[in-house]
Amino acid sequence: GRYVFDFAEGSMEQKDLLGGKGANLAEMTRLGLPVPPGFTIATTACRAYLETGDLPAGLGDEIAAHLRELEQAMGRRLGDATDPLLISVRSGGKFSMPGMMETILDIGLTDESVHGLAKHSGDDHFAWDSYRRLLQMYARTVLDVPDELLQAAVSTEYAEWGVATPEELPAAAIERACVALKQTIADHAGRPFPQDPLEQLDLAVRAVFRSWSTPRARLYRRQEQIPDDLGTAVNVMAMVFGNRGPDSGTGVAFTRDPASGEPGVYGDYLQDAQGEDVVAGVRNTVPLARLAEIDPVSHDRLRTAMSTLERHYRDLCDIEFTIERCRLWILQTRVGKRTAEAAFRIAVQLVDEGLITLDEALLRVTGAQLGQLMFPRFAERHGVPELARGVAASPGAAVGYAAFDSAAAQRFAADGRRVILVRRETNPDDLPGMLASAGILTTRGGKTSHAAVVARGLGKTCVCGVETLSVDPVARRAETAAGAVIEEGDLVSVDGTAGIVYPGEVPVVASPVVEYFDGRTDLLDTDELVRAVDRLLRHADARRRLGVHANADTPADAARARRFGAEGIGLCRTEHMFLGQRRQLVERLVLAANSADQQAVLEELLQLQRADFAMILRAMAGLPVTVRLIDPPLHEFLPDLTDLSVRVAVGQATATPDPEAERLLAAVQRMHESNPMLGLRGVRLGIVIPGLFAMQARAIAEAAAEVTAEGTDVHPEIMVPLVAGEAELQLVRREIEGVLADVAARTGGLVPTRIGAMIEVPRAALGAERIAHSADFFSFGTNDLTQLTWAFSRDDVEASIFPRYLDAGIFAVSPFESLDVEGVGRLVRLAVTEGRTGNPDLVIGVCGEHGGDPASIAFFAEAGLDYVSCSPYRVPVARLEAGRAAV
Ligand code: ADP
Ligand code: MG
Ligand code: MG
Repeated sequence: GRYVFDFAEGSMEQKDLLGGKGANLAEMTRLGLPVPPGFTIATTACRAYLETGDLPAGLGDEIAAHLRELEQAMGRRLGDATDPLLISVRSGGKFSMPGMMETILDIGLTDESVHGLAKHSGDDHFAWDSYRRLLQMYARTVLDVPDELLQAAVSTEYAEWGVATPEELPAAAIERACVALKQTIADHAGRPFPQDPLEQLDLAVRAVFRSWSTPRARLYRRQEQIPDDLGTAVNVMAMVFGNRGPDSGTGVAFTRDPASGEPGVYGDYLQDAQGEDVVAGVRNTVPLARLAEIDPVSHDRLRTAMSTLERHYRDLCDIEFTIERCRLWILQTRVGKRTAEAAFRIAVQLVDEGLITLDEALLRVTGAQLGQLMFPRFAERHGVPELARGVAASPGAAVGYAAFDSAAAQRFAADGRRVILVRRETNPDDLPGMLASAGILTTRGGKTSHAAVVARGLGKTCVCGVETLSVDPVARRAETAAGAVIEEGDLVSVDGTAGIVYPGEVPVVASPVVEYFDGRTDLLDTDELVRAVDRLLRHADARRRLGVHANADTPADAARARRFGAEGIGLCRTEHMFLGQRRQLVERLVLAANSADQQAVLEELLQLQRADFAMILRAMAGLPVTVRLIDPPLHEFLPDLTDLSVRVAVGQATATPDPEAERLLAAVQRMHESNPMLGLRGVRLGIVIPGLFAMQARAIAEAAAEVTAEGTDVHPEIMVPLVAGEAELQLVRREIEGVLADVAARTGGLVPTRIGAMIEVPRAALGAERIAHSADFFSFGTNDLTQLTWAFSRDDVEASIFPRYLDAGIFAVSPFESLDVEGVGRLVRLAVTEGRTGNPDLVIGVCGEHGGDPASIAFFAEAGLDYVSCSPYRVPVARLEAGRAAV
C-alpha cells in the first residue's frame, strides 16, 4: 500500500493513518485555510520501521516523488544554492503526546544553501540563525549529541559579544557558531553533519520513528493509557518564517479560554520569532489582542480562520500560527485540551450557540471531570507563589504540616494536626504515615508510582514526581533549586488536581458544585459552571436507563445521597452499626456459653438495630433501601489473641490466675482462622450462628412496620452476602420469610420486603441461574468478586504488588479502580444472563466501588444492569456517566 499522502488528500477522520497533526493539517488544507504545503508519512510506515529497524520498501521513492511535487508547488528546490526550499519534519501520532517526540525545523540548509537563503532573503542574520537552529536541533534529536556540548559550542560567541541569546549575535558570529557546532557534531556523532538535504530528511524521518520508542514516550503512553503499537506519522511541511523581522512572528491561540471556559479568543504572540521560541519562554509574549495593533490584517485573518475552525470542529480549537512578512500561515490545529470547569462551560455554550446538541454536549464531559469539580480546592487568586510542580497524581487540595517519615506523620496526626507526608518515594512501610496524612508529596515517580496508586486507593490528595524538590530525610528538610526550604513541621499546601506545591497555608474553598447539590440553589443564578453542570446532569437523567443508588450506612449519608440524586440505597452495611460500644455485644454473642446467653444478647442487638433501620428508612422515604446482613469475619469483633495470651500468661506467672481471660482465650483460639476473609463470614455466619440473621431480619421488618405506621412509604430489601450456591440462600430465605410473616402477624400487615443475594464469589456467578430461583435481586459485590477472581488480597497487594504490575504494564489500571472487563466482567455477564433465565423479574445492581467508576459504569450499562450503587459523593458522577452510556 501507499505510505505517503499529500495534505490535500487526507481528512480529519484519518487520525489512525495520518496521526492527529497530519489529519488536521489535511482537514485545514481542504477547508482552504492558509496551510504551508506538505505531505504526511503514515503511521503504517512507522510500524513497519519499528518491526524491521528499516524503512519499508518503496517508502524512499514515495517520499522523493512527493518532495518533487512540493518543490514544484513552492517553485524552490531543496538544497538550492540560490533560493532553497526548507522543510520541517514533524512527529504526530493518533493521540497528542506533548513534548514527547521530535520536530526538526529548517531542514535543507547546508554549507551551500545557507548562502542561497542569505542572498534570496537579503538577510544574512536570518539565514545563519536558521542554520544554527537546524544544526542544534538536528544534532540533539537525530544525532544524539548531548545538549551541554552544543550549548558549549555556541557559548564562546555569547561570551565574546556579551549576549545571552544567539539571536542577539551578529551574522558573522553566528556563522562562527555554526562552524563550532559542526565540529562538535563531527567529534561526538561519529559522522559529520549531512550536507545532502535528502540524507538530512531520511535520517530525520528515522529519528522521528525511533522517538516513538524512547523510555519517556513509553512512560507517557502507559500513564495516559495510549496503546504502544500505534506508531507516529511524520509530517513534512514547507517552512515559513516568523523570524524575519518585526512584521513577522509566531503564536498560539485558543478559540475560548481553555482554563476557565470563558468565551472569546485567547492566546500569545511573539514578534520576530520561530515556533519553538514561544514554548521555550526565552522572550516575553504579548497577548493576542496586541496583534490587532501590530498587524491588523493578519489579526483579522486569524480571527476569521479561528471562527471557521471552531464552527467546523464544533469545539474549542487550539491553533499554532506564524506570520511571515505580514502573511498569515496556520501550522497546526486540534480540538484543545481544557480543564474540567472549561469542559462543562464550553459544552453548554456550544449548545446555546446551536453548534451541538445536548447529547453531544454530554459526550464532551466526563464523570472524572465532574468528580474533579466536586473536590474542595484552593481559592482563586490566593496570591501564594508556587514552590514547585509535579505530577497531579490524586486530586484534591490538602494543607498540612510537613512530615518526612511515617513515624513523624503519625505523631503529628496523634496531636490532631493535619499532615503532608513528604518523601522521595514511598514504599509499603510508609502506609501508616500515608493513612495519617491529608496529602502526600513525593519527588520521584509518576502516576503509577506506589505513592500515586495508594493515594488514589485511599482517596488522599497526592502530587508526585516533584523533581525540582530534593528531599533529605535525615536532615528532615526539602529544598528547591532556587533555595526555598521546607523543614519538618512547616505548613505546606498540595494541589493534587493541578500538581502544584505551595509553601504555607493556601485558603481552601468548598466546591460550588457540591454547595449547589447541598441546597444552595441561588448558585444557579450566579455561577455559570453550576448552571452547566446542572443542565448536563438533568439531560443525563433524562437519557439514562441505569438507575443510581448510593452506599450509605447512616441517616446523614442517606440524606446527602438523596440530595445528590440517589434513587435508593443499594448497600446499607450493618457492621458499622456494631462498632464502638456495641462491639462488646457481638463479642458476647460469639463467645456466649449457652443459648440463653445468646438469646439475651440478640434481644439487646435487636432493639439497637431496629432504631438504626427506622432512621434510614425515614430518610429514604419512597425509595428502596437494601440492607446487607452482617458480613465481616468474626475476628474483627473479638479481643486480640496476643493480648489475651499475655494476660493469661501474666496471671499464671504471678500466681493470680484470670479465669475470665482464660475462658476468652480458649474461645478465641477455638474461633481463630488462618484466612479470615475466606472463613466464617457472610451467609456462613448466618448459618453457623443460629438466630443472628433472624434478629437482623426482625429488626428490619419491625422498623419497616413502625415507619409505615407513621404514614411513610418504605421499601426495605434484605441482601445476603457471600452466597455461593442456591442451598445457602434457600436456607436463609426460609428463615427470613418466617420472621417477616411473624412480624406481619403481630403488627397487622406485611411490609413487602424483597430478599436477594450478593454476587461476590465466583461460584455464585457460575451458579447464577439456580440462585436466581430463590432471589428477588442480585447485587454484584465487585470488590470481593475481583479479590476472589484474581486471588488478590486487596489490603496487601495494592501497596506491595500493584506499583510494579502497573509499571510492567501487566495492567493499565488497578482492577480495584476499574472493573477488569475481560475477566471479572465475564462473570458479571454470565450471572446477568443466567440469573435472568432463572428469574425473569430479577433486578440486578452493583454495589462495589466500581459502581462509581466511570469506565466501569459504561460496562455495567452495556451488560444490562438495572442500577449502580456508589458512595454519596460519586452519585452525580454515576448519573452523568450513565447518561453518557445511553447516548
Ligand atoms: P509539537 O507537536 O511539539 O508542537 P510541532 O511539530 O508542532 O511540534 O512543531 C514545533 C514548533 O515548530 C511549532 O511551534 C510549530 O508551529 C513550528 N513549526 C513546525 N513546522 C513549521 C514550519 N513548516 N514552518 C514554521 N514553523 C514550523
Ligand atoms: Mg505543535
Ligand atoms: Mg463483600
